Amino acid sequence: MTWDDLKRAQLAAELEELDRQGLQRVLRTLDSAQAPHISLDGRQVVNLSANNYLGLAAHPAIRQAARGAIDEWGVGSAASRLIVGNTRLHDQLERRLAQFHQTPDAVLFNSGYHANLGVIGGLVGNGDLIFSDALNHASIIDGCRLSRATVLVYPHRDLVGLEGLLREHSRHSGRRLIVTESVFSMDGDRADLVALARLAGQYQCWLMVDEAHAIGVVGSHGQGLAAALGLQSAVDILVGTLGKAIGSFGGYAAGGAEVCALFRQRARSFVFTTALPAPIVAASIAGLDLLEGAEGERRRAQLWRHIADMDAGLVSLGIRERSSEQMSAIFPILVGDASQTMGICEELFERGLHIQGIRPPTVPRGTSRLRLTLMATHSDGDLQRVMGALTDLVATGRLQPAP
Ligand SMILES: *Cc1c(COP(=O)(O)O)cnc(C)c1O
Repeated sequence: MTWDDLKRAQLAAELEELDRQGLQRVLRTLDSAQAPHISLDGRQVVNLSANNYLGLAAHPAIRQAARGAIDEWGVGSAASRLIVGNTRLHDQLERRLAQFHQTPDAVLFNSGYHANLGVIGGLVGNGDLIFSDALNHASIIDGCRLSRATVLVYPHRDLVGLEGLLREHSRHSGRRLIVTESVFSMDGDRADLVALARLAGQYQCWLMVDEAHAIGVVGSHGQGLAAALGLQSAVDILVGTLGKAIGSFGGYAAGGAEVCALFRQRARSFVFTTALPAPIVAASIAGLDLLEGAEGERRRAQLWRHIADMDAGLVSLGIRERSSEQMSAIFPILVGDASQTMGICEELFERGLHIQGIRPPTVPRGTSRLRLTLMATHSDGDLQRVMGALTDLVATGRLQPAP
């Protein structure tokens, strides 16, 4: 074998191993805009996998804002924000985000992923400690690793476990940071932010909360869980994304004036990347306008009606525990085995329902699942089709009752 053949053979073996474990991922291709009904791999399906919770991603006002900004600014932003890529729109969006979250300041990043990569290392480093929920998103995990701080993982939502670690390390001389999602991306459950804020105060820790799946969804104006609980000032760093309910693209960190000023100096994913294009920034501002206005209000109310119906439906099928306080637009339907999960996913797809299967490393081994997400713009008929298909899967024993 030549060296070139050997390289190819090595990688082919790795890919084969993934396939054998049921972990080979495939890209499906959209042939229509983001909507409740889409054309995916040539099939018309109900879209139950997007994070487009309010159905704003293809909204005419957001399209119009982007189009207008293209005419004024073009597309390429040509430099990082600290060099010559920072437009009036970027400044405006940061002020809007700070107002939205009722924080002194906010810093725009190129995605939620960039925000988490940058802010953790912007605040803590070698010699510091991070207390991280076991089910935190990969971008938080990567941010923790890049920071070079010591990471102590506490079991998912386990406050007793966390407090044990805090007590054990209460004399630590460096900074201590507690980091959590508010609504967890793969389980759809919520962190107890009241308790986390209390622990952070008691043990003199910083508190960082990723609200990617709560923004636009949770709270009277969709500002997220921290705001809904009146905890804006207890959260030192709030991370959000513009790519989910807001219907655009980008990410941000909101917080105090000093912490944001520090991120503009130190967060490497802020400093060393080309600025977001102006049309994207304009689209984000338009998305926030919609989200904060009557349209957002109406859509959020519709989304919560769907959430309540889906919750009741899944509980009555026995595949979800009763869960009034833990609701979000994310419904995990546990299967366990990765290959089995993808088999069910494929079967549903052929019935016209796209409910993405989620496998390791996105979720822990043995907890592969279908992850169903709802949008305000789904119809009652869409939800009924889902219930029909899930009822059949339970009847044939393919889906097991929740433990
Ligand atoms: C989606 C997500 C991110 C990343 O946001 P993007 O804007 O998509 O990069 C970060 N954190 C959580 C919890 C997420 O679900």
